Amino acid sequence: MGDKKTKGHVVVNIEECKGCGLCVEACPVNVLYQSEKFNTRGYHYAQYKGDGCTGCGICFYSCPEPGAITVFKRWDKITEKRFCKNCDGERFVFTLEDKPGKYFCTACLKEV
Ligand code: SF4
Ligand code: SF4
Repeated sequence: MGDKKTKGHVVVNIEECKGCGLCVEACPVNVLYQSEKFNTRGYHYAQYKGDGCTGCGICFYSCPEPGAITVFKRWDKITEKRFCKNCDGERFVFTLEDKPGKYFCTACLKEV
């Protein structure tokens, strides 16, 4: 109840998205939409509504563009925030097993 975090979370790499809409159609809980804005290549990129993702990963598997979608299956377990120089602000961060000691921003996916 209250501030309980949604279980999953999804980040679209705007510049890698081709705006095909497959992820939007595939998401079983309808938490993705196509932005009215364009990326630099002229595509209406996909966006997350910001709440309700279950972390099922269907959007990831439906996307033809490698690197366009990142799904955090256990967003509720990501609790640490650090300053991200790319985003110029505090963001939730995650770690990777093959890169010990490094932290990555959940918003821009770059190392903080
Ligand atoms: S992981 Fe599943 S619930 Fe979350 S945005 Fe993708 S398809 Fe939708
Ligand atoms: S499936 Fe991939 S390329 Fe197509 S709209 Fe979604 S994120 Fe963009």
